[in-house]
Amino acid sequence: MRAKATLFDGGEGTRDRNGLLFSEKWAADGHGEWCYGAVSFVYSRRGRHTQLYRVKYDEGTVMQAEDAHLELAEDEDDSDEDQTVQCHMVRLGNKRTVEGTHRGEIRAVQMRCTSCSKRNRQNEVRGRAPLTAWCCSVHSEVYACKHKTCWEEHLAEVRQVREREDML
Ligand SMILES: [Zn+2]
Ligand SMILES: [Zn+2]
Repeated sequence: MRAKATLFDGGEGTRDRNGLLFSEKWAADGHGEWCYGAVSFVYSRRGRHTQLYRVKYDEGTVMQAEDAHLELAEDEDDSDEDQTVQCHMVRLGNKRTVEGTHRGEIRAVQMRCTSCSKRNRQNEVRGRAPLTAWCCSVHSEVYACKHKTCWEEHLAEVRQVREREDML
């Protein structure tokens, strides 16, 4: 996770001998505007109090922080952490009608949504899954409805498969 360096600025009185606040010094040292670290302890939450965490920052300090001040940092060095980001929704493409009254017209290629088919099968729902013009850039056999949870389901599945593989 990460927190804005300005979070560690005290008042005007905390400027160092160069007249810099913590965040200004932090940025001047080339760290940017964020402090990176990991949550080392989650405090139990009482009533309507905000959730507090104990955070150990990479440079060594340990501080208490509020929920609102923290955000998840993207793992830059751990690139194999979540490869589902490689999956993108792409159009199946177009095809030209060669015969009939619509001859010469270009229309989108459509396939039946993979997630919907699976869901129908599991729930023993009869009927065919809706058509969609979208598929996965990585898994060419996966078609997904654009405006439903189908795409998220695909990403979740990919993640699950990967986790299972990691355990082997
Ligand atoms: Zn995919
Ligand atoms: Zn669907």
